[in-house]
Amino acid sequence: MTTRRLPFTLEATATDSRARATRFTTLHGEMQTPIFMPVGTQATVKGLSTDSLKHVGSRMLLANTYHLMLRPGAEVFTKVGGIHPFMNWDGPVLTDSGGFQIFSLPHSRSMTEAGAKFASYVDGKIHLLSPEESIRVQRAIGSDVMMVLDQCIPSTSDHRTARAAMELTHRWAKRSLAAREDSPQALFGIIQGACFEDLRMESVTALTEMPFDGYAIGGLAVGETKNQREDFTEITAALLPPEFPRYLMGVGTPLDILEAVHRGVDLFDCILPSALAKRGTAFTARGKVQMRRSAYKFSEAPLDPECPCETCRTYSRAYLHHLTKTEEVLGWQLLSLHNLTFYHRMMAEMREVIFGGSFRPYLETKRKEWSGSDEELSPAEERESLDSSP
Ligand SMILES: [Zn+2]
Repeated sequence: MTTRRLPFTLEATATDSRARATRFTTLHGEMQTPIFMPVGTQATVKGLSTDSLKHVGSRMLLANTYHLMLRPGAEVFTKVGGIHPFMNWDGPVLTDSGGFQIFSLPHSRSMTEAGAKFASYVDGKIHLLSPEESIRVQRAIGSDVMMVLDQCIPSTSDHRTARAAMELTHRWAKRSLAAREDSPQALFGIIQGACFEDLRMESVTALTEMPFDGYAIGGLAVGETKNQREDFTEITAALLPPEFPRYLMGVGTPLDILEAVHRGVDLFDCILPSALAKRGTAFTARGKVQMRRSAYKFSEAPLDPECPCETCRTYSRAYLHHLTKTEEVLGWQLLSLHNLTFYHRMMAEMREVIFGGSFRPYLETKRKEWSGSDEELSPAEERESLDSSP
C-alpha cells in the first residue's frame, strides 16, 4: 500500500441528499469541501492580488496549462520553482490538462493517438499536447493537483463517438499516470461517456482501477441541457467510490453548484464570478443585480448590506454604478472581489448546513430564491474571458 498523495476524510453526509462535507490534505495545506476555486487562467485571477484573494476567502486556485505552456512556458516555472513562488500564492493550485482549450476553442489542430497538435496563438509554433507533455508541463508548474489529458467532445455526441473518445481518454489516463513517475503531485482521472449511462459506468470502472487521487466528472457543460447535466452528474457521482474527492469542471452558477453539491460533488471552478463582474453584474443573497442600471445612480446604499467584503463596506451603489458605466478597471475589480466573496460564503454555508442536518431545506429555499435568476455567458464572452486569443 503506497501513501496517498491526497489524504482524504469524508466528514459528513447530508440527510435526504448526497451532499457531503470532506477534507483533504494537499502539498500546500488542508482543504475543506464543498470548495470553489477561482480561475487563474494566466497565473492570475483577473484584477486581484493574491492578498485580495486571501481576504475574500479563496483557498485553492485553478490555473490553465494550455495558456501557461505557451506563456511564460514550462522553462520559466522550472527556473523559478513553480507557480507558487512565481505568483506568490502559498495555497494549493489545481491545473487542468490543456485539453479543454485545445478541443473546444476554435483554432487549427489535429488529433491522433499520440495527442493533439496545434499552432500557438502566441507565435504560430506547432506544439504536440500529448498526455506526457501535459504532465511534463504540469510538473514544471508544480500544481498540487494535476489533471489527465482527456478528449473533450460535445456531450450531445452519438454513442459510437462517445465510446471512441472515452476509450482514448482511458489510454491517455494510463500514460498520464506513468508520466507522473514519483512526483508528489496528485493526479485526477476524468470520467467520460457523454450522456450514456453504460459508458459512464464503464468509464468509472476503468478509471477507478487506476491509482488516481481523485476524479473529475468530465464531458459535461459542453452542449447538454441543464437536466441532462444534473442527471449525468448524479449518475456518475453515485458510481464513484466515496473515499476520493470529486470535481465538476467549469460549473457554474450558484444554483448549478448547489444542485451538484446535492448530487455529491466536492470541487468546483468557474469564470462566472469574474466574467459577470466585468459585465457589471453582482451576486447578492436576494438574487443578481446589474450595477449599470440607472436605478442605482443616486443610491448611497452598499451593494449588499449583508456582505462583509471590502466593496460593500467601503463603496456606495452610486459609485459602483458610475465605475461600471464608465467601464473603469476598478469597477470590475470591486465587483470581482464581491462576487468571489459571495461564492466562498455560499460554499461555507453549504458546508455548515450539511453538518447541521439542514441541507435539504436549504436546497429547497435556494431553489426558489435563485431559479430564473441564472445568467449565462455568451460563447463570445466565454472565449474572451478565457483569453483564447491575443
Ligand atoms: Zn460584498
